[in-house]
Amino acid sequence: MSIRPPTPERSLTEMSRESLRAALSAMGEPRYRADQIYTWIFARGARSLEAMTDTPKALRQRLADEGYTVGRALVEKVRESVDGTRKLQFRLSDGAAIESVLIPMPGGLFTQCLSSQVGCAMDCKFCYTGTMGLSRHLTAGEIVDQVLLAPGTLPAGARIDHVVYMGMGEPLHNFDAVLQSIVTICGDDGPGYSFKRVTVSTSGLVPQIDRLGEVAPVNLAISLNATTDEVRDRLMPVNKRYPLAELIAAVRRYPLPPRRKLTFEYVLLGGVNDGDDDARRLVKLLHRLPARVNLIPWNPFDGPAYARPTEERIRAFQRILLDRNVTVTVRVTKGLDIDAACGQLGERPDAA
Ligand code: SAH
Ligand code: SF4
Repeated sequence: MSIRPPTPERSLTEMSRESLRAALSAMGEPRYRADQIYTWIFARGARSLEAMTDTPKALRQRLADEGYTVGRALVEKVRESVDGTRKLQFRLSDGAAIESVLIPMPGGLFTQCLSSQVGCAMDCKFCYTGTMGLSRHLTAGEIVDQVLLAPGTLPAGARIDHVVYMGMGEPLHNFDAVLQSIVTICGDDGPGYSFKRVTVSTSGLVPQIDRLGEVAPVNLAISLNATTDEVRDRLMPVNKRYPLAELIAAVRRYPLPPRRKLTFEYVLLGGVNDGDDDARRLVKLLHRLPARVNLIPWNPFDGPAYARPTEERIRAFQRILLDRNVTVTVRVTKGLDIDAACGQLGERPDAA
């Protein structure tokens, strides 16, 4: 199976402002017409050509005749956890399923966790998505569709104020589509995000971290998960290509805007990477970096022989970091009852 997405039918959410202007200009339409349609789709959330009421009917008909649609994803299912986390399942035009998770934050706000691929090729041993392998990359439009469709699934008054590329897939392995999606959601007349309110999480693809910093310096999260190459090689095959020293060097040169912090995610696996020595090595690795550590106790699934550490061990690990003035939080497990917690995304054979 090809990891390339199927040839897109002409979905308007795939288009950049320039490509939309070019397409409409080729139809003899003025530039403001393209801008008007762009605003309908990306700022006002129109999901059909009919909704664009101030666009001439003849033009809408022509677009429809030429095969244009608005979006390639439909919300198929919304599940809500007892803790308020919501998992959205989208069906794509080729039948593939992807998920977004909406995580409640204080003040009625939500953070949206976006998928960037169907499955993932990185093969991290503790991650459910990793066990699926990669089916295919998402297109930019399929990523943007998640952002455009999510608000409509929330109760009135609730708002999404941050998007994180931490759902299914390794975003930097699908660099061009992810970059285009960031440009669209952070651009003028889009859904209103800014680089400040976007975070890309990566398992550590060093050249792509550098490229991201050059073109779209959003917040960066690194899935670190180990403090020695020996352990990281075993947990995350990507480490054999880009070992810890190279990864930390790339993070140090990332052009982080002033007063912002880098996030380091650290999945705690009982007896594997959760010892006092690991905590001390972690402090050393992050020395003089504007870092925030997010400890994620392992969320279990059938398969690998890992264990979630005890509460006591988690606290002891956290204490070592706190005592050395490292900012550290323990991620409260959210959405566990609906398989929406970190590392649990992906279609289950028994999915109801
Ligand atoms: N592929 C990207 C982004 C998605 S993974 C990346 O790896 O950064 C999101 C986070 O979930 C990563 O930090 C990963 O380390 C963590 N994770 C994966 N499987 C997990 C599990 N079973 N329990 C807890 N966290 C997990
Ligand atoms: Fe892919 Fe991230 Fe899971 Fe690793 S942790 S397999 S990179 S989704």
